[in-house]
Amino acid sequence: MAESKKDYYETLGIPKDADDAAIKKAYRALAKKYHPDTNPGDAAAAEKFKQASEAYSVLSDPDKRRQYDQFGSAAFDGSGGAGGFGGFDFNGADMGDIFGDIFGDIFGGGRRSSARYNGPSRGANVRTSIRITFEDAIFGCEKEIEINFKEECSSCHGSGAKAGTSPVTCPKCNGKGKIMYTQQSFFGQIQNVQTCPDCEGSGKIVKDKCPDCYGNGYITRRKKFKVTIPAGIDNGQSVRLAGAGEPGTNGGERGDLLVEAVVSNHPIFKRQDTSIFSTVPISFANAALGGTIRIKTVDGEVDYEVKAGTQTDTKVRLKGKGVPSLRNRTIRGDHFVTLVVSVPERMNEAQKEALRKFEEAMNGTGEGEKHKKKGIFK
Ligand SMILES: [Zn+2]
Ligand SMILES: [Zn+2]
Repeated sequence: MAESKKDYYETLGIPKDADDAAIKKAYRALAKKYHPDTNPGDAAAAEKFKQASEAYSVLSDPDKRRQYDQFGSAAFDGSGGAGGFGGFDFNGADMGDIFGDIFGDIFGGGRRSSARYNGPSRGANVRTSIRITFEDAIFGCEKEIEINFKEECSSCHGSGAKAGTSPVTCPKCNGKGKIMYTQQSFFGQIQNVQTCPDCEGSGKIVKDKCPDCYGNGYITRRKKFKVTIPAGIDNGQSVRLAGAGEPGTNGGERGDLLVEAVVSNHPIFKRQDTSIFSTVPISFANAALGGTIRIKTVDGEVDYEVKAGTQTDTKVRLKGKGVPSLRNRTIRGDHFVTLVVSVPERMNEAQKEALRKFEEAMNGTGEGEKHKKKGIFK
């Protein structure tokens, strides 16, 4: 090799002034194309991969690149002593990064899960939802839900091993849960860390599987939970049941169960935060003369005194008839009512006559004159 003059730029197919991103991009493309795992038994591809990796290892390092630009590839020749390829550290950050990027893509992300070593880790949260009525959301309620619940197998106490046996330390990773895998290349060994495929990171291997859980260590069954829905909960808000999620691993605590409230619409009431809104029809006579009407609220019907001369679309506020605050259920919002004066659609002759009389009586009064000017009455 000592005599061969290698042009790393040419190998990667990039110009001499290529920047870091361009170098990385070029190498990524070549490494994907020629990686031995994607070209098993192809010596030519292996050679190309080797050359590309060598070029990248030099050009991606500013110091080495400068040296190379000055002295050529001889500076990096294995026989050349200190600067030789044998001395390159492929565990270095740069190679680690790019191998993570590239081989994570190609080989199913083995490296991504490498964080999941042997220590205790908390179980995942589980989400579910529950449908409740408008009133249940306002006043709170107790509900029961049934979910698939993963529990430690009582036969093997979570070990997954058949009674009388116990899991053995994984011989592949010596119980570490991770392995260094080594790739031979022209310039030595490329090392990477991966979750141990034999024990999937647990560090233990079950030889004789527990027949009750098939070696999983867990059994899933339907389990009921009582859910206390607090007064004032709104559509889309969740109740947390601590510890009712997935079990943790290696002694980690369980995750939580999050129960989302799906609140049904109400035929009369609408809600926004702690306010309730509704529309109530009142008769013309009631609006004009005033009087007591009944208004439906979430607490039942209440009496309301309509003032004489109430116009349509008048808004009234029923204080404290809204939704309780989630933080303090003694504090409640208000109920806003829109009073709509309804015009009768059908009337008998006597009613029509009475209304004509009414109109006549209004003529000559201020009210009648107003209409006259608008040309409604002759
Ligand atoms: Zn078991
Ligand atoms: Zn292992």
